[in-house]
Amino acid sequence: MEDGGRPPHVAMLATPGMGHLIPLAELAKLLAARHGATVTLLTFASMASATQLCAFLTSLPPSVSHETLPPVDLSDLPHDAPIEALMSEECTRSLPALAGTLAELKRTTRLVAFVTDHFCVNAFDSARDAGVGRRCLFIPGSLHALTLMLHLPELVASVPGEFRDLPEPLRLPGCVPIPGLDAVFSALQDRSSPAYGMMVHLAERFRQADTFLVNSFDAIEPEVASVLRQPKPGRPLVYSIGPLILTAEDRSTGDSDAKPPPPRAACLEWLDRQPARSVIFVSFGSGGALPVEQMRELALGLELSGQRFLWVVRSPTDEGSAGFIERTKGVGLMVPSWVPQIEVLAHEATGGFLTHCGWNSTLESLVHGMPMVAWPLYAEQRLNAVMLSEGVGAAIRLPEMKEKETIAEAVREVMAGEGKGAAVRAKVAEVQKAAAESLREGGAAMAALDGVVENW
Ligand code: UDP
Ligand code: UDP
Repeated sequence: MEDGGRPPHVAMLATPGMGHLIPLAELAKLLAARHGATVTLLTFASMASATQLCAFLTSLPPSVSHETLPPVDLSDLPHDAPIEALMSEECTRSLPALAGTLAELKRTTRLVAFVTDHFCVNAFDSARDAGVGRRCLFIPGSLHALTLMLHLPELVASVPGEFRDLPEPLRLPGCVPIPGLDAVFSALQDRSSPAYGMMVHLAERFRQADTFLVNSFDAIEPEVASVLRQPKPGRPLVYSIGPLILTAEDRSTGDSDAKPPPPRAACLEWLDRQPARSVIFVSFGSGGALPVEQMRELALGLELSGQRFLWVVRSPTDEGSAGFIERTKGVGLMVPSWVPQIEVLAHEATGGFLTHCGWNSTLESLVHGMPMVAWPLYAEQRLNAVMLSEGVGAAIRLPEMKEKETIAEAVREVMAGEGKGAAVRAKVAEVQKAAAESLREGGAAMAALDGVVENW
């Protein structure tokens, strides 16, 4: 990529949400470290106040700079507009500013590529106008999710009603059979929702990318990987460059000569006092919240399982499970809203993960060899749960009807490696090795990334 001494420059635009930003930033760091590129990481104004964003940005190396696009007015949107619609609309309304930024980068740097993720696919127009050579769509999800999006326009035309009413699972090339209820994003479960048309519109525009960069790796979806890697006219090239997750190194080397390290989170100190592999980590990601009655079943299920637990919950309360906090004192810890998840997963006291199956959490769990109990909530989490339980075999999925007994059983099996838990634990150990293999020098992810950059 070297040319006349000027390093290649890459512009990246991340959809609001840490789950989009973190893997894109990891990609930026790799491009800088391995390929001598400089990167401008663009985010939307709606993200500017996120405290996690501020902390995170201090860990970027000097070759990766960050810019916030100017705020746009979204006040005319219905206050209950689905998150997908908000994200996509913020992107659309930011296009003029983006076009200006890209034109400026084109003038001042050797801008070789524009990378964005699926909610900003409309931004490819701005990239084309600015004369950016390569347009890459980053998929912060699986090849299964990409396959569904690629097939979505034809599925929408051929499925008469709602996906959830399909009598048979969807069978897509290389994919695990996917029950209609679990198909695609939650936004696609209701044809009358404004988010439905929007998702279909995004899917129709996917092919305007010339390359798909997917945060996945072959060990977890080998069949679909070989299908998508066969060149097909009209389909962008597909590269699996994962698993890209926030690494412990990033945080410790962030700006080591500047500030002292932040104090260690209390939950980590609590973990220090627990026996090895004895704690199940329970978290529903950055946006997940459970209805009160499900909170109660989960609380009682954890108690019934007899396992130690670390549960991240928006507002810890006993409501509905009177005395739970008191009764589980010493065995369990409820933490409000946010924990350093990677450190929790890497801690030797942690032995399993009850997760909403957000894609980043899924990858982080696999990289750290954590067997999972799958409790998907929204977005493409149900699809991830199908893949993890039916495809990879790295999770026990809870039934639709979540009751304390089934929760307790799944938690116990995963933690003790009994029943279905035995196979799950063995599989996760295997996948953990494959993930490390993919990321090592000369591994599949690094080779794929080198291939991508060569094309630039
Ligand atoms: N995360 C974290 N602490 C928390 C909750 C989430 O560090 O208490 C991080 C987590 O490690 C992951 C991201 O936030 O990298 C969440 O992304 P994911 O795709 O799993 O779920 P989402 O939050 O987008 O639903
Ligand atoms: N690759 C990929 N998708 C493609 C083409 C290549 O994932 O559509 C991967 C391929 O498996 C290899 C890497 O990218 O690991 C580099 O492949 P490329 O054909 O660009 O280079 P070469 O194999 O000729 O070095």
